[in-house]
Amino acid sequence: MKFLYRWALRYISSCGWNSASSLLCCIALAHYLLSAYLSLSDEELQGIEAGGSGYAASRPLEINMHVLTHLLASWAASEGLQRPDRDVALATWAGLAPDLDGAGLIVDVVRDAVGLPETTLYYQFHHILGHGLPAAIVISGLVGALAVRKTRAAVVAFLTVHLHFLGDLFGSRGLGPMDYWPVEYLAPFSDAWTVSWRGQWWLAGWQNTVISVVLLMLVLVLAVYRGRSPARLFSAKADDAFVEVIRLRWSRIRGARGA
Ligand SMILES: [Zn+2]
Repeated sequence: MKFLYRWALRYISSCGWNSASSLLCCIALAHYLLSAYLSLSDEELQGIEAGGSGYAASRPLEINMHVLTHLLASWAASEGLQRPDRDVALATWAGLAPDLDGAGLIVDVVRDAVGLPETTLYYQFHHILGHGLPAAIVISGLVGALAVRKTRAAVVAFLTVHLHFLGDLFGSRGLGPMDYWPVEYLAPFSDAWTVSWRGQWWLAGWQNTVISVVLLMLVLVLAVYRGRSPARLFSAKADDAFVEVIRLRWSRIRGARGA
């Protein structure tokens, strides 16, 4: 898996070092470094299987490396379903918004760092406030209010938020033996309609890495054939530059094959 990452990074880097490709490279590199950081030694794996807490002791913070996967999946869905750019961006960010309920982690860490009494806001509210139908309605409503084509954007945002829920349901397991994240669909108002899946894989599992790599490849394909990439979320100019570089590279590859 690490080989695939290195190959993808080398490939993207060789496409040129303009602002958009450097942004994509930085995201991919950060994702790779987190993967390497979170990957487990044999001893840690054995400890976890035996019910120990070796992982938690050595790495007190679980970093949510799933964000890149959420972003790319959300962008692909938004990009395929609507225009204009503003609505694509809004619906894409909506697909990341549920994880804002994990922002309490910052307070927990800062309070810990400065020696104030312990807080557990992250564990109290993450996957509770932002990961249910009430949050989906609020997020979609906000998108609808800010979008150009309001109804369509709100519907697509509702979809990307649920794509996020699905991603978490499949692949957001922590590293303890019973550390499953359920989706409490009516939270924070009720614990009815709680869905969990015993096959849920780890955040740092190879499945998430494979999905991320596939989505990164999809980004390159869409850049070549549709002339658009996630760089457009930040700047249309940067996106145009990125697409131009990718298309140039692709035409050279095709030219070399045809020669
Ligand atoms: Zn989430």
